[in-house]
Amino acid sequence: MTKRIAFLALLLSGCATAPEAGPAASRAHKDFLVLDTHLDTPLHFARPGWSFAGHHDPATDLVQVDMERMDAGALDGGFFAIYTEQGPLTSKGYADALAYARGRSDLIDTTLAKFPDKIGRALTPDDALRLSREGKLIAFKSMENSYELGEDLSLLKEFYDRGVRLAGPVHAANNQFADSSGDRPKWNGLSPLGRKWVAEMNRLGMVIDASHSSDATFDQMLELSKTPLLLSHSSGRWAFDHPRNLDDGRIRKLAAKGGAICVSTIFLANMNMTPERAALFSQYEHIADLAPEAQVELAHKWRELDKTQPIWAADFERYMAMVLHVIKVAGVDHVCFGADWDGGGGLPGIEDISALPKVTERLRAAGYSDRELDKMWSGNILRIVGEAQRYAAVIH
Ligand SMILES: [Zn+2]
Repeated sequence: MTKRIAFLALLLSGCATAPEAGPAASRAHKDFLVLDTHLDTPLHFARPGWSFAGHHDPATDLVQVDMERMDAGALDGGFFAIYTEQGPLTSKGYADALAYARGRSDLIDTTLAKFPDKIGRALTPDDALRLSREGKLIAFKSMENSYELGEDLSLLKEFYDRGVRLAGPVHAANNQFADSSGDRPKWNGLSPLGRKWVAEMNRLGMVIDASHSSDATFDQMLELSKTPLLLSHSSGRWAFDHPRNLDDGRIRKLAAKGGAICVSTIFLANMNMTPERAALFSQYEHIADLAPEAQVELAHKWRELDKTQPIWAADFERYMAMVLHVIKVAGVDHVCFGADWDGGGGLPGIEDISALPKVTERLRAAGYSDRELDKMWSGNILRIVGEAQRYAAVIH
């Protein structure tokens, strides 16, 4: 058992008093178990002829996560998201979304199944530790938006059975479950069905993801949930006053109830969504529908636009300033990382996952120990996944 796994196993058993001294106090980035809680990479899995294992040049391919870069020591794995675009709150809308989400879930499975020696599916914290011991990458599954469930909460169990262990109620627009941070209040938080969604998430042992939720939705889920919340890809309002970000008071309340905020690279400044960028973004969201040459063309145009109209007026320095602030407010037991790779994340200086070692360097320079880095890179996430699962096991 390697030192990192031994310590993470201790952390998960609730006896995290591993000694700090000795050579273990200066591990390299690659020696930590590094997880990211929100990977939109399945968007690329759908591209005909594209391989998760291949080398992808950022100049000609917009993907930010592939196994080659993960293997380089930057990222051990994380939560691969079933993102479902929201349509009308009608039975037809729900049925279309459900078919889409099932397809996305299957796509994640078939993609990962191509590389059984390199990456494995994780359903529990122990699975993650085992895969790491075996030298494999780790793939949890998550759901971004629960719109596809329609009004039938029994479908949540279907997605649990499909391997989903983390889910949020809502995306950028209000839906049948909750108000979104990107919309005007409709329910003033959770709808009556949304309250039942929280209870069903708890009952199944799934972690509730509060990223994209409105403040009121966050407050109500924090109050109702029997297990800690996770924010899979959110920034702090300290960096930029935007409803998508969490304010310091709520970060403290989240931490007080055992939850964690996985810090993203988005909304550190206003989103510069010019008409040119919006046009490219909508192509990007459906990149699998483009011919290979058109995909390369899209990457070229995207990179060119980055030079004159960057999406975010922020960079790695600004990102690290916010990360350090969030750590100060939440404490090291309540911080994790979810940059929003392949979903709009990345900034100059932290363009893709190969930049992650720089984050470790900065955290170390700020005085954080191996033990603290263990918690922030994966220990806190695995603890929260474990707490949700233990609660479900106890009530059953
Ligand atoms: Zn998102």
